[in-house]
This record gives sequence, C-alpha cells and structure tokens, in this order.
Amino acid sequence: MFSEEGGFLTTSVDAVVNWARSNSLMPMPMGLACCAIEMMGFAGPKYDVARFGSEAMRFSPRQADLMIVAGWCSHKMAHTVRRIWDQMAGPKWCIAQGACASTGGMHRCYGVVQGIDNFLPVDVYIPGCPPRPEAVLHALMDIQEKIRAEQSVANEAHDLSGLVVKPTDEERRLIAA
Ligand code: SF4
Repeated sequence: MFSEEGGFLTTSVDAVVNWARSNSLMPMPMGLACCAIEMMGFAGPKYDVARFGSEAMRFSPRQADLMIVAGWCSHKMAHTVRRIWDQMAGPKWCIAQGACASTGGMHRCYGVVQGIDNFLPVDVYIPGCPPRPEAVLHALMDIQEKIRAEQSVANEAHDLSGLVVKPTDEERRLIAA
C-alpha cells in the first residue's frame, strides 16, 4: 500500500478485511414493537447512519449481516426471528435494542421471551425504554470496534478446515500403489 508521499504503509490482511466489514454493515431491521420507531429514526436522514456505511437496510436475510431486534419478542415470534437469523450468512452480529429485547422489560408474562439471548447470540445490548437513535448509533460503533478486534482470516481458515476432503485409507493405498 503506497502513501501520498510516495512511501509505503504496512498492514495485515485482518486489518483490511475488518476495516471493510466494519464500515459496510448491512442491518436487518427486526422491528417487533415500539422500539422500532426509534430504529427508524436511526435509519433516517437526521442521524445519518450513512456516515458509518450502514444506511442500506436489508429485508432479505441473505443480504444482511447485522440483525437489530427492536422490541419485545413473543414465544411464537421467536421461532421466526431465529429462522431469519439462521438464513443470514456469517459472519453476522446481533443487537438487542431496548429493555424488552434485552430482558423482557416490563413484560413479565408467559407469552414474552425474557431476553432474546435465550435464542440468539447477542453482541450488544442497548438499555432504555425506548433507547434514542443516538444509543443505536453507539451500539453500531460498538459492533464496529468488536469487528476490528477480530481475527477474521484465521477464524475463517479454521472454519474452512472442515470442508477439506481428506482421502480415505483405501484411497491412500491406491495412491501409494
Ligand atoms: S423497551 Fe419500551 S419502547 Fe422498547 S419495546 Fe419495550 S416497551 Fe416498547
């Protein structure tokens, strides 16, 4: 990588991959209740989430890598949310927006899941009822920090190791013959 002065800079592949990923997160807006209104504010022009490269909300799980669960989640809805999460390609991240998504909030009743971390791996929790759009922006920045600290290349090489087809003993014998 060359600098403007004609010299060069060094970096790691992890740093470049994480820089690109952290600045191009595509949120899946899982608006389940009143917190979704604040999530819409976060996505609107006033708070300008485009500064962080995340203005492209995606309603297809195949195109999203950041699920924002905004609002309380019923047990019936939890199956659908989990299925959409499973359809998102990795690497992916999850934000629980508001007291209800994080803990069930005021809904201490049999029909509401007492925190979406009962069925989803949550990366960042946002307190408040409802949290303001600035808090959602802060959570996005926390996710970016988390991505920048990841060892992306090493992790993905490890994930791919299970896909390598190794010869069976019989094939080894045939190769050796
Ligand atoms: S935290 Fe408050 S605003 Fe958000 S879903 Fe619960 S009751 Fe609604």
